[in-house]
Amino acid sequence: MDRRSALKLITGAGLGMVAAPLIGAGAAPARTPSLDQAPNFVPADISPRRIIRQVVGLRPFRETGYVVRAERFSRRKTLVHHYGHGGAGVTMSWGTAAEAERALLAATDATSVAVLGCGVIGLTTALLLRRRGMNVTIYAEALPPHTTSNIAGAVWGPSSLYRRQSVDEAFLARFVDAARVSQRAFQHLANDPRYGVYWLRQYDFSLRTPGGPREPQPLDHLYPGLIRHTDPQTWFGYPSVTENHVLMIDPDIYLRALMADFENAGGRIVMRRFETASDIGRLDERVIVNCTGLGARDLFGDPELRPMRGQLTMLLPQPELDYAYTAWEGGILYMFPRRSSVVLGGTTDLDMADTLPSAEETARQLDGHARIARRLAGLERVEDGHGTLRQ
Ligand SMILES: Cc1cc2nc3c(=O)[nH]c(=O)nc-3n(C[C@H](O)[C@H](O)[C@H](O)COP(=O)(O)OP(=O)(O)OC[C@H]3O[C@@H](n4cnc5c(N)ncnc54)[C@H](O)[C@@H]3O)c2cc1C
Repeated sequence: MDRRSALKLITGAGLGMVAAPLIGAGAAPARTPSLDQAPNFVPADISPRRIIRQVVGLRPFRETGYVVRAERFSRRKTLVHHYGHGGAGVTMSWGTAAEAERALLAATDATSVAVLGCGVIGLTTALLLRRRGMNVTIYAEALPPHTTSNIAGAVWGPSSLYRRQSVDEAFLARFVDAARVSQRAFQHLANDPRYGVYWLRQYDFSLRTPGGPREPQPLDHLYPGLIRHTDPQTWFGYPSVTENHVLMIDPDIYLRALMADFENAGGRIVMRRFETASDIGRLDERVIVNCTGLGARDLFGDPELRPMRGQLTMLLPQPELDYAYTAWEGGILYMFPRRSSVVLGGTTDLDMADTLPSAEETARQLDGHARIARRLAGLERVEDGHGTLRQ
């Protein structure tokens, strides 16, 4: 998850810190104890020996945000674009799929639909349309578990999705609405173990001393339990720690369940690669929904679409871990537990399309997460908010 965006969205000041000094009898204590105590964190066991695999994926990033738009494809056919979700495709999927469905219904009354792409965006869109009674076929070169969507974290959080200076208020309003719709849909799935959706406590450990109360953000209500702690004495030396609960989605479980839902509802999936737009014109369906993610750059010539590389390191599962975090250690870092692994990440390299894991990035992740684990175990502290260590 992009830490800067995450911070913008979830940094939780203004919600009232609970620190309160205790007045001791007798001599003044060396430091004032605080009621704002950090919980006992079980530290993650970070070691190269525990690595089970590493994966690299390319997020489909656009500075002006995701595209949902209907247009004429030919005299008989309608094309609906739905792609470009950057680092938040899973997060936004239900909300933007609802937008795509509205765009389609406004543009045509045809009921035979080809959805191009079988990542989270194609599957969610196809499922919504099928549930509306349409005759839907997914065409895709790669199916789960071989899509970028399977590589996603996937922490529910709309980050790395657009650049603030490149979008207008109309886009932001659409985005906030789609995020709300999507988070609500995931909440319902969290009740059902088939989907791999679950709530987790999340912390953002920040080295920056807050300059004042935090401005409320439009998506705050989607992060229940949001609070900011600002007592470095009790929070391992971090001047600011934001805590909230977040929905987590395990993409391997989730995408398998979406595929099953789609096929059980009567949808069809066909493996096919399209080289050019005219290949697509030969499909029988009168409506085509383009959910090809980064593939839309070549297939439909969108120069704005850029790869944002991300590398994850999976460690052996550690069932006692019951929290996630983001932090800054010479770059973004995040950690969260799944049933099948402990996931370490934090790479956001724009315009890099190399899908081999980098040894340098692995070392950065392991060193940084090991340092954080030592802090959470009380073995080291952040000093003066600058990330230097004391034994
Ligand atoms: C390391 C990493 C961490 C991430 N973390 C998160 C996170 O925490 N939360 C979150 O919400 N998101 C996260 N993401 C982002 C998320 O993975 C993407 O936004 C999402 O996968 C985009 O989904 P998609 O369906 O558009 O694309 P994809 O999953 O790439 O699916 C595209 C589909 O189109 C098909 N296709 C493409 N071109 C063609 C063609 N020419 N012919 C036929 N088929 C074609 C492909 O085969 C595939 O089936 C992360 C991504 C990475 C890499």
